[in-house]
Amino acid sequence: MVTKNLEACPVFIGGEWKELSGLDSSPVYNPSRGEVISAAPLCRAEEVDDAVSAAADAFPAWRDTPPVERARLFFRYRQLVEENFDRICQLVTREHGKTLVEAKGSAYRGLENIEYACSIPTLLMGDTLENIARGVDCETLLQPLGVCVGITPFNFPAMVPLWMFPLALACGNTFVLKPSEKVPLTAVYLIELLEKAGLPKGVLNVVHGGRECVDALLTHPKVRAISFVGSSPVAKHIYETGTRHGKRVQANGGAKNYLVVMPDADVPRTTEALATAAFGCAGERCMAGSTALTVGAAADRLLPSLVQAARLIKVGPTDIPAQPDMGPVITGQHRDRVLSLVASGEKEGAKVICDGRNPRVTEAPNGFFIGATIVDQVQNEMTLAREEVFGPVLNVMRMDDLDQAIEIANRSAYGNGTAIFTNSGKAAREFKHRVKAGMVGINLGVPATMAMFPFTGWDDSFYGDLHIQGKEGVQFYTQQKVVSTRWFGAGVADVWKTT
Ligand code: NAD
Repeated sequence: MVTKNLEACPVFIGGEWKELSGLDSSPVYNPSRGEVISAAPLCRAEEVDDAVSAAADAFPAWRDTPPVERARLFFRYRQLVEENFDRICQLVTREHGKTLVEAKGSAYRGLENIEYACSIPTLLMGDTLENIARGVDCETLLQPLGVCVGITPFNFPAMVPLWMFPLALACGNTFVLKPSEKVPLTAVYLIELLEKAGLPKGVLNVVHGGRECVDALLTHPKVRAISFVGSSPVAKHIYETGTRHGKRVQANGGAKNYLVVMPDADVPRTTEALATAAFGCAGERCMAGSTALTVGAAADRLLPSLVQAARLIKVGPTDIPAQPDMGPVITGQHRDRVLSLVASGEKEGAKVICDGRNPRVTEAPNGFFIGATIVDQVQNEMTLAREEVFGPVLNVMRMDDLDQAIEIANRSAYGNGTAIFTNSGKAAREFKHRVKAGMVGINLGVPATMAMFPFTGWDDSFYGDLHIQGKEGVQFYTQQKVVSTRWFGAGVADVWKTT
């Protein structure tokens, strides 16, 4: 690992940025070049305790800050994020490898979460009912929990942290963010901007690291709630460990998303939607459309144009002005895993009909590239059919009818997103009613939800009760208090007429 000229990756504890020395670290790559650009320190229980304690100390004053004032912090933050939007997107592109267009799209989703947090005074309003019994009134209050934690994955360096801390803070909690050690630099910059917007000391803290750091957060007695986004095995570990230690947990996991194509689907539009769903962000999306379930004649109608579209996708480095259509995957190790999954499918009888496994990227020979790949005749028992690939690979499974397509989709252990492409309202209605997934698209390949709706993964795609975003997000970051009030008629300061 190159250790000189690396970009700083500081922690932020109690309002102070600190570069930690003497800790082990994890390399941060520019995946377009295969070069190490920074090193994330691997924080231990000691640093975690400092961060959680700073957040706990800051909680009483922040909880008592009026919601309108907390909202004003996010109005200022929104402005700063917009003014520095290009810098944020460049950071995403540099440490993750998305194209600038993709970085912008995802950062906008993050910005919308800041906007949602700006409406916190309205979102925190409770219910009241007068006269629940004679002379007794009842009201609900939504109060913050205390110290909340956010643990995020590599694939959306700006958007996923922004799913969490704006709403958590707006609700009156304090926070410790542990970004992915693979992409920590965007998160650091986002918090620098929040500091500029007027964040009080200790209200949000940043630590870096892997399992040791995460486990210290999951078990810390002062942590009240944990938001997690990442792979399913880790999400399950987070949920089980966190809840065992008395924390409230929402843990988003991985996915295997099915795109059903009916024989009557609009071919050009479906081609475009499937290519975007499968190959956008180099397939590194929990909402990536990873398997096309083509019904009847749909395969023969669709595949020629889909293969043609996939072959036109130019893969290359994303850290230059001349942008490709698709960037690299996150690491060399991840590229090798994706390639071995495709090879396993081929060995088991599937057919690679668009082969992106050896892309020629002469301008960046050490980047972690894979071109758009389509594998036809995938069978449900193949590893390639069941495991999340998380790369630019679209499986095609040929179905006899819609019933079979729904049955295959519903057999998946995951339940994140799914979609149907058809001109038949009846088929679409049947699909949306019966399919087992939390987010459904109709003639729309990536039905990822916006800030005002919950991100509703099901089954192994989500562990917990209250999802991230929207009103469920507000419920997750608050606890309800129900106050029943009765005032006695005659008191010391009674001012009422008695006759
Ligand atoms: P990951 O599970 O490897 O890592 C996620 C976070 O957990 C990181 O911060 C990492 O440091 C930490 N971590 C990793 N291993 C750990 C362990 N053993 N114990 C404790 N903490 C650990 O995920 P990733 O590779 O960064 O991200 C890709 C995954 O995230 C994919 O599976 C993708 O589908 C999923 N994802 C899901 C959603 C969603 O909303 N459902 C959104 C984005 C990404």
